[in-house]
Amino acid sequence: MAQEAIRFLDAHMLDATPTNYTFAYLYLTGANGWLRKAVDGIIEGGVRLAQKEVDGLMELAPGETGHGAAASSMATEEEHRARLRLQMLSFSDLTAQAISSAGSFGRDLAQRADMIGGASDLGGLVAAMLERTAEMERRLAETRLETERLRQDLDAARDDATRDALTNLPNRRAIDRQLRLFAEQGTQIALAFCDIDHFKSINDRFGHAVGDRVLKVVAETLSATMDPHIVGRFGGEEFVVVLPQVDAETAFALVEKARAAVSSRNMRVRDTDEPLGQVTFSAGIALCRNDPEAALRQADDLLYEAKNSGRNRTIYKVAA
Ligand code: GH3
Ligand code: MG
Ligand code: MG
Repeated sequence: MAQEAIRFLDAHMLDATPTNYTFAYLYLTGANGWLRKAVDGIIEGGVRLAQKEVDGLMELAPGETGHGAAASSMATEEEHRARLRLQMLSFSDLTAQAISSAGSFGRDLAQRADMIGGASDLGGLVAAMLERTAEMERRLAETRLETERLRQDLDAARDDATRDALTNLPNRRAIDRQLRLFAEQGTQIALAFCDIDHFKSINDRFGHAVGDRVLKVVAETLSATMDPHIVGRFGGEEFVVVLPQVDAETAFALVEKARAAVSSRNMRVRDTDEPLGQVTFSAGIALCRNDPEAALRQADDLLYEAKNSGRNRTIYKVAA
């Protein structure tokens, strides 16, 4: 797929930038039906894509298709990787310089040592040695600094790919990975799906920015109540709690505590002080030992049941 993407970019004389690559990737996999149609419409009859068309489509693609999160996280990951590659190159350059500096220092020393035989310029030799040593130290310090920067960037890149930017919670990908791990270890977990009630109406009445802040507050409240269990943002206004080695009743009690904590918060619009009204969520809890997908489905079914029986409640199943 990578090679096909590069061939596609070549054919359209587009630069192999991370964004273009992501674009080609999205187009070629057909994962994004809307994008596929839009591009096919443009290139029909052998017309070449222009960079500004790619940019335009990439801006449109997220909102239009609902693949926004995937597309943008792919872009940032690709960007990170490209940047890291560049840094890696400059890093190995620095290291090479430091090594060559050490090498020429050695050769110099050997040459001068010959001269010592003639016992002439000892002062000059020492001065040159000191100068070289200082230079090498400077380069090594630079290299060390660069290594540290590189390490931090790698950490950040790794973190970005697994964290939700708004709430800073683990994202769906991270949760899925965690669930697979628990399943492989055979660790029994309780799995809670929490979905904010009538969230759309919060957006509609107070705007998207207020909705975003509500998401953050719910994320913080859930994390604080569930600590040390894992809380992730599974999507939109849907959170998932993973409670290893916890039975359904205990998980239920904890989720109920979080539900009470969220619904008792008197949230207000920051600028106008207008009350938002009670914010509540509904939840479904299932148990899981080795089939996370089935457990997720079951928790989702129970959540649906909670919604249908009046919202602002938690429903759980005792047996897996
Ligand atoms: P229900 O009680 O049945 O769950 O109703 P609901 O309105 O919460 O559910 P629905 O799925 O109809 O609406 C969810 C809304 O969440 C729609 C979407 O615009 C909004 N949403 C999803 N992600 C975000 C986000 O990151 N920020 C904001 N502000 N809104 C979001
Ligand atoms: Mg909802
Ligand atoms: Mg929802």
